Amino acid sequence: MDLLLPIEKAGRLCKMYARRLEKLNIKTFEDFLYHVPFRYDDFSLISKINRVQPGEVVTIQGTVSEISNEFTKNFKRLQKAEIADDSGTIEVVWFNQPYLINVIHKNDKIALSGKIDWYLRKKVMQSPDYEILTNSPPIHTGRLVPVYPETKGITSKWLRRQVHKLIEENKNQFAEYLPDSIINSHSLITINNAIEQIHFPKTIEIAEKSRQRLSFDELFLLQLSSMERKLNWNRNLIGNLFSIDNFKEKIKEFWKRLPFTLTNAQKRVVSEIFKDLAKNKPMNRLLEGDVGSGKTVVSAIAMFLSHLNGFQSVLMAPTEILAQQHLRTISQLLTPFKIKVGFATGSQKVKIKDFDVMVGTHAVLEKGINFDKLGLVVIDEQQRFGVEQRAIIRNRGKNPHLLTMTATPIPRTIALTLYGDLDLSILDEMPIGRKQIKTWLVPAEKRIGAYSWIKKQIKDTKSQVFIVCPFIEESETMQTVRAAVKEFEKLKKNIFKNLRLGLLHGKMKAKEKEEMLNKFRDGKIDILVATPVVEVGIDIPNATIILIEASERFGLAQLHQLRGRVGRGGKQSYCLLFTESLNSQTLERLKAMEKHNFGAELAELDLRLRGPGEIYGTAQHGRKMLKIASFSDFDLIKKTGVAAKKIFPDLKNYPKLLAKLKTINLKQVSPD
Ligand code: ADP
Ligand code: MG
Repeated sequence: MDLLLPIEKAGRLCKMYARRLEKLNIKTFEDFLYHVPFRYDDFSLISKINRVQPGEVVTIQGTVSEISNEFTKNFKRLQKAEIADDSGTIEVVWFNQPYLINVIHKNDKIALSGKIDWYLRKKVMQSPDYEILTNSPPIHTGRLVPVYPETKGITSKWLRRQVHKLIEENKNQFAEYLPDSIINSHSLITINNAIEQIHFPKTIEIAEKSRQRLSFDELFLLQLSSMERKLNWNRNLIGNLFSIDNFKEKIKEFWKRLPFTLTNAQKRVVSEIFKDLAKNKPMNRLLEGDVGSGKTVVSAIAMFLSHLNGFQSVLMAPTEILAQQHLRTISQLLTPFKIKVGFATGSQKVKIKDFDVMVGTHAVLEKGINFDKLGLVVIDEQQRFGVEQRAIIRNRGKNPHLLTMTATPIPRTIALTLYGDLDLSILDEMPIGRKQIKTWLVPAEKRIGAYSWIKKQIKDTKSQVFIVCPFIEESETMQTVRAAVKEFEKLKKNIFKNLRLGLLHGKMKAKEKEEMLNKFRDGKIDILVATPVVEVGIDIPNATIILIEASERFGLAQLHQLRGRVGRGGKQSYCLLFTESLNSQTLERLKAMEKHNFGAELAELDLRLRGPGEIYGTAQHGRKMLKIASFSDFDLIKKTGVAAKKIFPDLKNYPKLLAKLKTINLKQVSPD
């Protein structure tokens, strides 16, 4: 069986599961193998029935002598079974799982793992995991049992069966792709062992060894593939060389017309970009800067230079809202120079066929634009569509320069690992005059007080307010929307009766969203209640207060990005973090928001406080970038980087490694 086969293509039944599995980021059969347990239940203590002690977690194996549905005194259903082995019998109960009597039958040989308790003065086993015994060794009981991240309709038990089947079918057939030299010098176990033992380990030690091996591979392959991308990019030498000297006067004029002076960081980054543009090899640069650090104007200057040199430019944003906003900003900056700015999104046709600068969503790539005249492509918020779009542009155009921008606070080490093929520029300075956003953690008992304070602010200073509803699920589902609608109605009816409230969520049509935002921007709404979609860079200078519900559900870096929705004008801005949590660690983590104001700092803190996989907050892609390894493992990142450099670029001698690399590159360029 081809492990790289997409699950939905494997038959009708699979199609149904494929949708659910996607939530766990399992798309191919191979992905099952890399969906690793987050813990193991230790059911390895196998006991005779007459030896079990209350309080113990044990596994018993025996024969079912009876099973039936019964009712408790208060009419709850429970399932009662009696199990016998050669030492004695014990009663087993489950609650409210009436289907069990169709699964477990009298005289079945069965293994049960769970806790022994007193129940009505008898020793019983309560709600154990069970497994009908067959000829093959047990996987749900009597051993270290893997527990996986689950989602609706997908349980650990189900996952365990799939993974086990795949491992059995491919036993010892996973091709070892790491060079022996690397395996030996890093004392790694084989890939076959690692895949088998991370799911079904004999001991915790071997599980740990397996995790080490797979983490090594993940970081190693990631870095190797970005090295390869970089090499390929540089191999392509024929880019469009832009002249700067010929246009010195024009550029000066552009400077002069700006409504502000550039920060030193902006000046530095512009010169880094200009240096790239003046080469005859296409630029491939990542610009990282906090929200509000002024990335847009930097990109406008680059597009201006592109125009002066007779080339067109494209600026792509991940959402329509952002694209609209860019259209406004870019038009303001560029139309005084008679530059024609076009606009294209999924729902709107290309406005000007003959354009100098095209602003839009990634849909611009499908609008039949002639890429031949394209000199520069700017991708905003690159983490949402990085690699794929870069690949499309590369394959179609005549090597336009590429600038990708992100406000995701990525610590430098991580940026270099993930995007090692890009040159990195960082805007680490805020425009002057920008006041720090005052941030307060608001516990439950101060909620009412906070609402009154907000009312007073709106009345006294005509402030506008964002209220961000709790984060419920990764992608915006109806559940999130319903929660937002409910919150909106509650606030409107009970709390902010005399104010003008608006609602914004991801299930609204692009046009409705735009209308709502325009109303908010024009001051026709006092409070905008929104789902976390407002996270992307909306710029509304008069919004000075942001209230975030259930803030403990967000990562710090994500809170920081949300906070960046305010503090964009000259007025003092505020961020209120609501939480009902009483957990001291959680509160301490959130307190960091009161002290720290730079995204990169908060990202580092998140790395330390929340650990693996959660740097970007649950809602963001960070978690998906790494399945097993952790970005907080700086040591391993470094070690794997060194190992990759040692064998790069001469990979000819490692055909299996090359093949493996191809599969991960394929995944990265395939559209999501
Ligand atoms: P981001 O980096 O988040 O994309 P923007 O480019 O949207 O930030 O800029 C945020 C705001 O700051 C905009 O209103 C922009 O006009 C303003 N701005 C940008 N650079 C400066 C500067 N050097 N001085 C003052 N304001 C600036
Ligand atoms: Mg921006």
